[in-house]
Amino acid sequence: MRFEFSADDEAFRQEVRAFFRDHLPRDLARRFHIGAHPPERDDVRSFQALLHSRGWGAPHWPEEWGGTGWSPLRKHLFMEELYNADGLDYGWQGLHMVAPVLIAFGSEQQKRRFLPPMIRGEEFWAQGFSEPGAGSDLANLRTQAVLDGDHWLVNGQKIWTSDAAMSEWGFFLVRTDAAVKPQRGISFLLIKLDTPGITIRPIVSIEGGTGLNEVFLQNVRVPRDGLVGEAGMGWTYAKYLLEKERTASAFLYFNKRELEKARASAQRETVDGVPLIATPGFAARLARVEVDVLALEYSVLRVLSNEKNRQNPDAVVSALKLRGSALQQRVTELQVDALGLRSLRQWSHDEGEVLDADEAMRWPAHVPGRTAQALIARASTIYGGSQEIQKNIIAKLAFGL
Ligand SMILES: Cc1cc2nc3c(=O)[nH]c(=O)nc-3n(C[C@H](O)[C@H](O)[C@H](O)COP(=O)(O)OP(=O)(O)OC[C@H]3O[C@@H](n4cnc5c(N)ncnc54)[C@H](O)[C@@H]3O)c2cc1C
Repeated sequence: MRFEFSADDEAFRQEVRAFFRDHLPRDLARRFHIGAHPPERDDVRSFQALLHSRGWGAPHWPEEWGGTGWSPLRKHLFMEELYNADGLDYGWQGLHMVAPVLIAFGSEQQKRRFLPPMIRGEEFWAQGFSEPGAGSDLANLRTQAVLDGDHWLVNGQKIWTSDAAMSEWGFFLVRTDAAVKPQRGISFLLIKLDTPGITIRPIVSIEGGTGLNEVFLQNVRVPRDGLVGEAGMGWTYAKYLLEKERTASAFLYFNKRELEKARASAQRETVDGVPLIATPGFAARLARVEVDVLALEYSVLRVLSNEKNRQNPDAVVSALKLRGSALQQRVTELQVDALGLRSLRQWSHDEGEVLDADEAMRWPAHVPGRTAQALIARASTIYGGSQEIQKNIIAKLAFGL
Protein backbone atom coordinates (compact mmCIF):
# COMPACT_ATOMS: atom_id res chain seq x y z
CA MET A 1 0.00 0.00 0.00
CA ARG A 2 1.38 3.39 -1.00
CA PHE A 3 0.34 6.26 1.16
CA GLU A 4 1.32 9.85 0.61
CA PHE A 5 -0.02 13.14 1.91
CA SER A 6 -0.70 15.91 -0.59
CA ALA A 7 1.34 19.13 -0.53
CA ASP A 8 -1.73 20.89 0.90
CA ASP A 9 -2.00 18.35 3.71
CA GLU A 10 1.71 18.73 4.48
CA ALA A 11 1.30 22.52 4.59
CA PHE A 12 -1.58 22.04 6.98
CA ARG A 13 0.59 19.84 9.18
CA GLN A 14 3.25 22.57 9.32
CA GLU A 15 0.62 25.16 10.23
CA VAL A 16 -0.58 23.05 13.17
CA ARG A 17 3.00 22.36 14.27
CA ALA A 18 3.84 26.07 14.19
CA PHE A 19 0.75 26.92 16.22
CA PHE A 20 1.71 24.60 19.06
CA ARG A 21 5.37 25.70 18.91
CA ASP A 22 4.41 29.37 19.14
CA HIS A 23 1.41 29.29 21.45
CA LEU A 24 1.64 26.38 23.89
CA PRO A 25 3.01 27.95 27.10
CA ARG A 26 6.32 26.37 28.13
CA ASP A 27 5.28 25.46 31.66
CA LEU A 28 2.18 23.72 30.34
CA ALA A 29 4.19 21.89 27.68
CA ARG A 30 6.66 20.66 30.30
CA ARG A 31 3.93 19.35 32.60
CA PHE A 32 2.23 17.65 29.66
CA HIS A 33 5.56 16.20 28.54
CA ILE A 34 6.16 14.58 31.89
CA GLY A 35 2.65 13.19 31.49
CA ALA A 36 1.23 13.91 34.96
CA HIS A 37 -1.97 11.88 35.26
CA PRO A 38 -4.63 13.04 35.72
CA PRO A 39 -3.69 16.53 34.54
CA GLU A 40 -4.52 19.55 36.68
CA ARG A 41 -7.97 21.04 36.29
CA ASP A 42 -6.63 24.49 35.33
CA ASP A 43 -4.24 23.04 32.75
CA VAL A 44 -7.03 21.11 31.07
CA ARG A 45 -9.18 24.22 30.92
CA SER A 46 -6.52 26.57 29.62
CA PHE A 47 -5.42 24.11 26.93
CA GLN A 48 -8.99 23.75 25.68
CA ALA A 49 -9.36 27.56 25.68
CA LEU A 50 -6.13 27.80 23.65
CA LEU A 51 -7.45 25.36 21.03
CA HIS A 52 -10.75 27.20 20.90
CA SER A 53 -9.01 30.56 20.41
CA ARG A 54 -7.60 29.17 17.13
CA GLY A 55 -10.95 27.65 16.07
CA TRP A 56 -9.72 24.11 16.79
CA GLY A 57 -11.64 23.42 20.01
CA ALA A 58 -13.73 20.59 18.54
CA PRO A 59 -12.60 19.77 14.98
CA HIS A 60 -15.03 16.86 14.69
CA TRP A 61 -18.19 18.88 15.47
CA PRO A 62 -20.42 20.28 12.73
CA GLU A 63 -19.22 23.69 11.59
CA GLU A 64 -22.32 25.47 12.84
CA TRP A 65 -21.30 24.54 16.40
CA GLY A 66 -17.61 25.37 16.02
CA GLY A 67 -16.24 22.35 14.12
CA THR A 68 -13.63 22.75 11.39
CA GLY A 69 -15.04 20.76 8.48
CA TRP A 70 -11.67 18.98 8.11
CA SER A 71 -11.42 15.68 6.22
CA PRO A 72 -10.73 12.57 8.33
CA LEU A 73 -7.12 12.74 7.15
CA ARG A 74 -6.71 16.34 8.32
CA LYS A 75 -8.15 15.44 11.71
CA HIS A 76 -5.58 12.66 11.81
CA LEU A 77 -2.72 15.04 11.02
CA PHE A 78 -3.99 17.49 13.62
CA MET A 79 -4.08 14.82 16.32
CA GLU A 80 -0.63 13.60 15.42
CA GLU A 81 0.78 17.12 15.78
CA LEU A 82 -1.17 17.72 18.98
CA TYR A 83 0.37 14.61 20.54
CA ASN A 84 3.85 15.39 19.21
CA ALA A 85 3.61 18.81 20.86
CA ASP A 86 2.67 17.02 24.11
CA GLY A 87 -0.73 18.70 23.90
CA LEU A 88 -3.64 17.33 25.92
CA ASP A 89 -6.22 15.02 24.41
CA TYR A 90 -8.62 15.44 27.29
CA GLY A 91 -12.25 16.30 28.03
CA TRP A 92 -13.36 13.29 26.00
CA GLN A 93 -16.55 12.71 27.93
CA GLY A 94 -17.78 16.14 26.87
CA LEU A 95 -16.36 16.84 23.43
CA HIS A 96 -16.46 13.31 22.04
CA MET A 97 -19.24 11.60 23.96
CA VAL A 98 -22.10 13.76 25.17
CA ALA A 99 -21.68 16.46 22.48
CA PRO A 100 -22.40 14.18 19.49
CA VAL A 101 -25.44 12.84 21.35
CA LEU A 102 -26.74 16.36 22.02
CA ILE A 103 -26.11 17.36 18.41
CA ALA A 104 -28.00 14.31 17.11
CA PHE A 105 -30.77 13.91 19.69
CA GLY A 106 -30.77 16.94 22.03
CA SER A 107 -33.24 19.82 21.96
CA GLU A 108 -32.23 23.18 20.49
CA GLN A 109 -32.26 24.59 23.99
CA GLN A 110 -29.86 21.86 25.20
CA LYS A 111 -27.48 22.43 22.30
CA ARG A 112 -27.42 26.20 22.87
CA ARG A 113 -26.98 25.80 26.62
CA PHE A 114 -24.25 23.14 26.65
CA LEU A 115 -22.15 23.18 23.49
CA PRO A 116 -20.63 26.73 23.67
CA PRO A 117 -19.24 26.49 27.25
CA MET A 118 -17.94 23.01 26.44
CA ILE A 119 -15.92 24.07 23.41
CA ARG A 120 -14.58 27.11 25.30
CA GLY A 121 -13.25 24.83 28.06
CA GLU A 122 -15.48 26.37 30.72
CA GLU A 123 -17.62 23.33 31.55
CA PHE A 124 -16.39 19.78 31.79
CA TRP A 125 -18.36 16.53 31.77
CA ALA A 126 -18.26 13.12 33.40
CA GLN A 127 -19.79 9.89 32.09
CA GLY A 128 -22.04 8.12 34.59
CA PHE A 129 -22.69 4.75 32.97
CA SER A 130 -20.91 2.01 34.98
CA GLU A 131 -22.23 0.75 38.30
CA PRO A 132 -20.93 -1.83 40.77
CA GLY A 133 -23.13 -4.47 39.11
CA ALA A 134 -23.11 -3.07 35.57
CA GLY A 135 -19.85 -2.76 33.60
CA SER A 136 -19.56 -5.02 30.57
CA ASP A 137 -23.16 -5.92 31.26
CA LEU A 138 -24.31 -2.31 31.20
CA ALA A 139 -27.97 -3.13 30.58
CA ASN A 140 -28.03 -4.41 34.14
CA LEU A 141 -27.81 -0.88 35.58
CA ARG A 142 -30.03 -0.09 38.55
CA THR A 143 -29.79 3.65 39.18
CA GLN A 144 -33.39 4.73 39.03
CA ALA A 145 -35.13 7.95 37.94
CA VAL A 146 -38.82 8.51 38.67
CA LEU A 147 -40.85 11.48 37.44
CA ASP A 148 -42.06 13.61 40.33
CA GLY A 149 -43.89 16.67 38.97
CA ASP A 150 -41.37 18.79 37.05
CA HIS A 151 -38.41 16.78 38.25
CA TRP A 152 -36.80 13.38 37.97
CA LEU A 153 -36.01 11.90 41.36
CA VAL A 154 -32.76 9.95 40.98
CA ASN A 155 -31.39 7.29 43.34
CA GLY A 156 -28.48 4.93 42.88
CA GLN A 157 -24.71 4.64 42.52
CA LYS A 158 -22.21 4.99 39.71
CA ILE A 159 -18.58 3.89 39.79
CA TRP A 160 -15.34 4.52 37.85
CA THR A 161 -16.72 7.92 36.89
CA SER A 162 -13.63 9.59 35.41
CA ASP A 163 -13.13 13.27 36.22
CA ALA A 164 -16.39 13.61 38.19
CA ALA A 165 -14.63 15.70 40.84
CA MET A 166 -13.34 18.23 38.29
CA SER A 167 -16.49 18.39 36.14
CA GLU A 168 -19.55 20.60 36.31
CA TRP A 169 -21.93 18.17 34.61
CA GLY A 170 -22.51 14.47 34.17
CA PHE A 171 -24.50 12.47 31.62
CA PHE A 172 -26.08 9.47 33.24
CA LEU A 173 -27.81 6.33 32.13
CA VAL A 174 -30.73 5.71 34.48
CA ARG A 175 -33.58 3.22 34.61
CA THR A 176 -36.92 4.94 34.06
CA ASP A 177 -39.01 1.86 33.37
CA ALA A 178 -38.45 -1.45 35.16
CA ALA A 179 -41.38 -3.21 33.48
CA VAL A 180 -39.94 -3.49 29.95
CA LYS A 181 -36.90 -5.46 28.74
CA PRO A 182 -33.67 -4.03 30.27
CA GLN A 183 -32.40 -2.05 27.24
CA ARG A 184 -35.78 -0.41 26.63
CA GLY A 185 -36.20 1.02 30.13
CA ILE A 186 -33.04 3.17 30.15
CA SER A 187 -32.96 6.96 29.72
CA PHE A 188 -30.17 9.52 29.19
CA LEU A 189 -30.13 12.28 31.78
CA LEU A 190 -27.97 15.41 32.18
CA ILE A 191 -27.25 16.14 35.84
CA LYS A 192 -25.40 19.08 37.37
CA LEU A 193 -22.84 17.57 39.68
CA ASP A 194 -23.30 20.04 42.53
CA THR A 195 -27.00 19.17 42.85
CA PRO A 196 -27.94 18.37 46.49
CA GLY A 197 -27.97 14.62 47.13
CA ILE A 198 -24.84 13.89 45.04
CA THR A 199 -21.73 12.64 46.84
CA ILE A 200 -18.53 12.19 44.86
CA ARG A 201 -15.88 9.98 46.45
CA PRO A 202 -12.46 9.62 44.77
CA ILE A 203 -10.98 6.20 44.07
CA VAL A 204 -7.18 6.15 44.20
CA SER A 205 -5.97 4.32 41.11
CA ILE A 206 -2.92 2.08 40.87
CA GLU A 207 -0.53 4.91 39.90
CA GLY A 208 -1.74 7.13 42.76
CA GLY A 209 -4.08 9.35 40.69
CA THR A 210 -7.50 10.43 41.92
CA GLY A 211 -9.29 10.96 38.60
CA LEU A 212 -11.69 8.06 39.15
CA ASN A 213 -14.70 8.35 41.44
CA GLU A 214 -17.73 6.76 42.95
CA VAL A 215 -20.84 8.91 42.55
CA PHE A 216 -23.71 8.37 44.97
CA LEU A 217 -27.13 9.81 44.10
CA GLN A 218 -29.66 10.10 46.89
CA ASN A 219 -33.02 11.72 46.13
CA VAL A 220 -31.37 13.96 43.54
CA ARG A 221 -33.90 16.27 41.89
CA VAL A 222 -33.16 16.83 38.21
CA PRO A 223 -35.30 19.24 36.15
CA ARG A 224 -37.49 17.39 33.69
CA ASP A 225 -35.74 19.01 30.70
CA GLY A 226 -32.49 17.29 31.74
CA LEU A 227 -33.74 14.31 29.74
CA VAL A 228 -32.09 13.95 26.32
CA GLY A 229 -34.45 12.87 23.53
CA GLU A 230 -37.14 10.41 24.55
CA ALA A 231 -37.48 8.44 27.77
CA GLY A 232 -36.52 4.79 27.21
CA MET A 233 -34.15 5.61 24.33
CA GLY A 234 -31.01 5.97 26.47
CA TRP A 235 -29.56 2.66 25.29
CA THR A 236 -29.80 3.74 21.64
CA TYR A 237 -28.12 7.08 22.40
CA ALA A 238 -25.39 5.39 24.42
CA LYS A 239 -24.64 3.01 21.55
CA TYR A 240 -24.48 5.96 19.17
CA LEU A 241 -22.06 7.69 21.53
CA LEU A 242 -19.79 4.67 21.86
CA GLU A 243 -19.66 4.15 18.08
CA LYS A 244 -18.90 7.77 17.26
CA GLU A 245 -15.12 7.90 17.37
CA ARG A 246 -14.17 4.89 15.40
CA THR A 247 -10.42 5.04 15.18
CA ALA A 248 -9.67 6.90 18.43
CA SER A 249 -9.68 3.71 20.45
CA ALA A 250 -6.52 2.60 18.61
CA PHE A 251 -4.55 5.03 20.83
CA LEU A 252 -2.37 5.48 17.75
CA TYR A 253 -0.99 8.93 18.53
CA PHE A 254 -0.13 7.98 22.08
CA ASN A 255 1.54 4.76 20.95
CA LYS A 256 3.62 6.49 18.27
CA ARG A 257 4.77 9.28 20.59
CA GLU A 258 5.57 7.01 23.50
CA LEU A 259 7.45 4.58 21.26
CA GLU A 260 9.71 7.47 20.26
CA LYS A 261 10.26 8.25 23.94
CA ALA A 262 11.16 4.59 24.57
CA ARG A 263 13.65 4.76 21.71
CA ALA A 264 15.14 8.02 23.04
CA SER A 265 15.57 6.47 26.49
CA ALA A 266 17.20 3.41 24.99
CA GLN A 267 19.65 5.64 23.14
CA ARG A 268 20.61 7.57 26.29
CA GLU A 269 20.68 4.76 28.83
CA THR A 270 23.71 2.48 28.86
CA VAL A 271 24.58 -1.03 30.03
CA ASP A 272 28.30 -1.48 30.77
CA GLY A 273 28.99 1.57 28.63
CA VAL A 274 26.95 0.28 25.68
CA PRO A 275 23.82 2.18 24.67
CA LEU A 276 20.83 0.03 25.51
CA ILE A 277 19.52 0.34 21.97
CA ALA A 278 22.66 -1.40 20.72
CA THR A 279 22.10 -4.47 22.91
CA PRO A 280 20.52 -7.33 20.91
CA GLY A 281 17.81 -8.16 23.45
CA PHE A 282 16.42 -4.66 23.80
CA ALA A 283 16.86 -3.82 20.11
CA ALA A 284 14.78 -6.88 19.16
CA ARG A 285 12.01 -5.99 21.62
CA LEU A 286 11.90 -2.43 20.38
CA ALA A 287 11.74 -3.62 16.78
CA ARG A 288 8.85 -5.98 17.52
CA VAL A 289 6.81 -3.20 19.13
CA GLU A 290 7.73 -0.80 16.33
CA VAL A 291 6.47 -3.21 13.68
CA ASP A 292 3.17 -3.59 15.52
CA VAL A 293 2.75 0.18 15.97
CA LEU A 294 3.41 0.62 12.25
CA ALA A 295 0.81 -2.04 11.43
CA LEU A 296 -1.65 -0.24 13.69
CA GLU A 297 -0.92 3.05 11.93
CA TYR A 298 -1.60 1.56 8.50
CA SER A 299 -4.80 -0.04 9.76
CA VAL A 300 -5.99 3.34 11.04
CA LEU A 301 -5.04 5.07 7.78
CA ARG A 302 -6.90 2.43 5.79
CA VAL A 303 -9.99 3.03 7.88
CA LEU A 304 -9.67 6.79 7.50
CA SER A 305 -9.14 6.77 3.76
CA ASN A 306 -11.88 4.24 3.18
CA GLU A 307 -14.38 5.49 5.71
CA LYS A 308 -17.59 5.35 3.72
CA ASN A 309 -17.57 1.85 2.28
CA ARG A 310 -15.90 -0.31 4.88
CA GLN A 311 -17.24 -3.73 5.80
CA ASN A 312 -18.06 -4.66 9.37
CA PRO A 313 -17.12 -1.28 10.85
CA ASP A 314 -17.85 -2.33 14.42
CA ALA A 315 -15.58 -5.37 14.17
CA VAL A 316 -12.80 -3.19 12.78
CA VAL A 317 -13.18 -0.73 15.65
CA SER A 318 -12.97 -3.59 18.13
CA ALA A 319 -9.84 -4.94 16.45
CA LEU A 320 -8.19 -1.50 16.66
CA LYS A 321 -9.10 -1.19 20.35
CA LEU A 322 -7.81 -4.69 21.06
CA ARG A 323 -4.42 -4.05 19.44
CA GLY A 324 -4.08 -0.37 20.38
CA SER A 325 -4.71 -0.88 24.08
CA ALA A 326 -2.38 -3.88 24.31
CA LEU A 327 0.28 -1.84 22.53
CA GLN A 328 -0.18 0.97 25.01
CA GLN A 329 0.92 -1.48 27.68
CA ARG A 330 3.86 -2.85 25.68
CA VAL A 331 5.17 0.62 24.78
CA THR A 332 5.01 1.94 28.33
CA GLU A 333 6.60 -1.24 29.68
CA LEU A 334 9.48 -0.72 27.24
CA GLN A 335 10.04 2.72 28.75
CA VAL A 336 10.09 1.30 32.26
CA ASP A 337 12.50 -1.46 31.29
CA ALA A 338 14.79 1.01 29.53
CA LEU A 339 15.12 3.08 32.71
CA GLY A 340 15.17 0.33 35.33
CA LEU A 341 14.91 1.71 38.85
CA ARG A 342 15.03 5.29 37.58
CA SER A 343 11.57 4.75 36.10
CA LEU A 344 10.24 4.83 39.66
CA ARG A 345 10.94 8.57 39.84
CA GLN A 346 7.55 10.22 40.24
CA TRP A 347 6.45 13.35 38.45
CA SER A 348 5.80 16.57 40.25
CA HIS A 349 3.53 19.28 38.95
CA ASP A 350 6.10 21.96 39.72
CA GLU A 351 9.14 19.96 38.71
CA GLY A 352 10.77 22.96 37.03
CA GLU A 353 10.95 24.88 40.29
CA VAL A 354 12.05 22.08 42.62
CA LEU A 355 14.90 20.54 40.61
CA ASP A 356 18.34 22.13 40.84
CA ALA A 357 20.75 21.75 37.92
CA ASP A 358 22.40 18.55 39.23
CA GLU A 359 19.11 16.91 39.90
CA ALA A 360 17.81 17.89 36.49
CA MET A 361 20.80 16.08 34.97
CA ARG A 362 19.96 12.95 36.90
CA TRP A 363 16.26 13.24 36.12
CA PRO A 364 16.10 14.50 32.54
CA ALA A 365 12.65 15.01 31.04
CA HIS A 366 12.41 11.48 29.64
CA VAL A 367 12.62 9.93 33.10
CA PRO A 368 9.87 11.02 35.54
CA GLY A 369 6.54 9.31 35.66
CA ARG A 370 7.30 6.25 33.50
CA THR A 371 6.27 3.61 36.04
CA ALA A 372 3.11 5.52 36.90
CA GLN A 373 2.23 5.79 33.24
CA ALA A 374 2.83 2.09 32.66
CA LEU A 375 0.63 1.28 35.64
CA ILE A 376 -2.30 3.41 34.52
CA ALA A 377 -1.93 1.94 31.02
CA ARG A 378 -3.11 -1.37 32.57
CA ALA A 379 -6.59 0.22 32.57
CA SER A 380 -6.68 0.71 28.79
CA THR A 381 -7.60 -2.93 28.22
CA ILE A 382 -10.59 -2.51 30.57
CA TYR A 383 -12.27 0.84 29.88
CA GLY A 384 -14.14 1.39 26.63
CA GLY A 385 -14.88 -2.36 26.54
CA SER A 386 -12.48 -5.01 27.88
CA GLN A 387 -10.37 -7.31 25.68
CA GLU A 388 -12.78 -10.22 26.10
CA ILE A 389 -15.75 -8.07 25.11
CA GLN A 390 -13.90 -6.84 21.99
CA LYS A 391 -13.05 -10.44 21.06
CA ASN A 392 -16.69 -11.44 21.46
CA ILE A 393 -17.71 -8.60 19.12
CA ILE A 394 -15.11 -9.61 16.52
CA ALA A 395 -16.16 -13.27 16.75
CA LYS A 396 -19.78 -12.36 16.18
CA LEU A 397 -19.53 -9.60 13.58
CA ALA A 398 -16.48 -10.59 11.58
CA PHE A 399 -16.74 -14.39 11.75
CA GLY A 400 -20.44 -14.94 12.42
CA LEU A 401 -19.69 -17.16 15.45
C1 LIG B 1 -9.53 3.90 34.16
C2 LIG B 1 -10.98 3.63 33.96
C3 LIG B 1 -11.82 4.68 33.66
C4 LIG B 1 -13.19 4.47 33.53
N1 LIG B 1 -14.01 5.55 33.29
C5 LIG B 1 -15.34 5.37 33.25
C6 LIG B 1 -16.22 6.49 33.13
O1 LIG B 1 -15.78 7.65 33.05
N2 LIG B 1 -17.55 6.29 33.13
C7 LIG B 1 -18.08 5.02 33.22
O2 LIG B 1 -19.30 4.91 33.18
N3 LIG B 1 -17.27 3.94 33.36
C8 LIG B 1 -15.93 4.08 33.38
N4 LIG B 1 -15.10 2.99 33.54
C9 LIG B 1 -15.70 1.66 33.73
C10 LIG B 1 -15.50 0.70 32.56
O3 LIG B 1 -16.38 1.02 31.54
C11 LIG B 1 -15.73 -0.71 33.12
O4 LIG B 1 -14.68 -0.99 34.03
C12 LIG B 1 -15.73 -1.75 32.02
O5 LIG B 1 -16.88 -1.63 31.23
C13 LIG B 1 -15.67 -3.18 32.59
O6 LIG B 1 -16.69 -3.37 33.52
P1 LIG B 1 -16.39 -3.93 35.00
O7 LIG B 1 -15.27 -3.16 35.59
O8 LIG B 1 -17.68 -3.96 35.73
O9 LIG B 1 -15.85 -5.41 34.79
P2 LIG B 1 -16.74 -6.69 34.45
O10 LIG B 1 -17.73 -6.37 33.39
O11 LIG B 1 -17.25 -7.26 35.72
O12 LIG B 1 -15.65 -7.66 33.85
C14 LIG B 1 -14.74 -8.42 34.66
C15 LIG B 1 -13.98 -9.38 33.76
O13 LIG B 1 -14.90 -10.31 33.14
C16 LIG B 1 -14.77 -10.27 31.73
N5 LIG B 1 -16.09 -10.42 31.09
C17 LIG B 1 -17.22 -9.73 31.40
N6 LIG B 1 -18.24 -10.13 30.61
C18 LIG B 1 -17.72 -11.07 29.76
C19 LIG B 1 -18.27 -11.85 28.69
N7 LIG B 1 -19.55 -11.70 28.32
N8 LIG B 1 -17.46 -12.71 28.04
C20 LIG B 1 -16.15 -12.85 28.39
N9 LIG B 1 -15.58 -12.14 29.41
C21 LIG B 1 -16.36 -11.26 30.07
C22 LIG B 1 -14.18 -8.90 31.44
O14 LIG B 1 -13.48 -8.89 30.20
C23 LIG B 1 -13.25 -8.67 32.62
O15 LIG B 1 -12.03 -9.34 32.40
C24 LIG B 1 -13.72 3.16 33.67
C25 LIG B 1 -12.86 2.10 33.95
C26 LIG B 1 -11.51 2.33 34.11
C27 LIG B 1 -10.63 1.16 34.46
